[in-house]
Amino acid sequence: MDVDFGAPEFRVLIFAPVGRTAELARDTLQKAGLAASVCVAMDEFCAGLRQGAGAALLVEEALSSAEAVRLLAGTLAGQPAWSDCSVQVFVANSETPSPPLAALASMSAGRSVVLLDRPVPPASLISVMRAALHGRARQYALRDLLGQYEEARAEADAANRAKGEFLSVMSHELRTPLNAIGGYTELIEMGIRGPVTPEQRVDLERIRLSQKHLLGLVNEVLNYTKLETGTVTYDIEDVPVREAFTAAESLVVPQARAKGLELITGETEPFLSVRADADKLRQILVNLLSNAVKFTLPGGRIHLECERGGECICFSVRDTGVGIPADRVAAVFEPFVQVRSDLTRTEEGTGLGLAISRQLARGMGGSLGVESTPGVGSVFTLKLPA
Ligand code: ADP
Repeated sequence: MDVDFGAPEFRVLIFAPVGRTAELARDTLQKAGLAASVCVAMDEFCAGLRQGAGAALLVEEALSSAEAVRLLAGTLAGQPAWSDCSVQVFVANSETPSPPLAALASMSAGRSVVLLDRPVPPASLISVMRAALHGRARQYALRDLLGQYEEARAEADAANRAKGEFLSVMSHELRTPLNAIGGYTELIEMGIRGPVTPEQRVDLERIRLSQKHLLGLVNEVLNYTKLETGTVTYDIEDVPVREAFTAAESLVVPQARAKGLELITGETEPFLSVRADADKLRQILVNLLSNAVKFTLPGGRIHLECERGGECICFSVRDTGVGIPADRVAAVFEPFVQVRSDLTRTEEGTGLGLAISRQLARGMGGSLGVESTPGVGSVFTLKLPA
């Protein structure tokens, strides 16, 4: 590291209120090309440290009052996280430190306070100070890195907020024309605009299905951005597990039947309940069950179960589907991630379902995880407070 030890931020502050020690030390350091300045009071010394110094040097006598010790210890403790300015103290005998020195040592535990037995030869003083300043240069480098990191993080946060706002506005804007498409399609289907031929009816049905699908995607993006921007509120209450099962199951049974899948709901303790927002719990379960239906081949089985585990209630959705490769398991909870396989390529989705579900689970004080074996199946586990 190429460092200019003559620069103000590497200045050595010296405080030695008796004799000529301060001036001698200053001259010695300056002759060696180090910036050094003498302070005349502990206040000034500590203020200099707070403003930014390279290192500090003082004599034991400067710590004669308890107030002086407190002031210095407080200043050292008040440094920012990256900073540990080295303080060298000239002492009569480092093996039997005076009471104020012992107090400083205990109040400044974890800080770089070094005791140097007098007399300190000029060459030793210079080399000790150079070493301290090299350490200081590394702290400054760390400070600069932290600054860059903070800046980058602030920029990323701002970009993320802008993305959220953009997605939210876009989704709103898209919903209006999509609803109009749905409405007019229905009007035509009802024959209000004139007779409809059977071929036209087939086309209208396709338009309506596409409109519904697109609206579903747009709504999902909107839901996700709401979660991201923290504008979702949770209405937490005791939700009977049986009711949550029934609500979720009824929405998924038709898809499962249509695909020739068996949906099995496990037995639960009677009156078992969970602390949750009923709508959001249903949303998570429906999402997990729909995924299980999507990613399981006809003839497969899906189990929905729930059991108490200590302080939490543990829901699991187990399927005999395609599974998720080990290196993609963590990624499926990231927004817009879809694991590409021959099966998923034919399945529609945004890749937002699991990202939303995990955020909702966390919002209710719980967690969502998965274990999966490709070709065997997956188990998604939702844990919520009991
Ligand atoms: P989407 O279902 O809209 O693609 P999700 O966030 O719900 O989005 O799921 C993300 C990806 O995780 C899916 O595209 C799929 O690749 C994988 N995945 C989710 N559930 C299962 C499952 N039960 N079995 C296999 N893969 C799954």
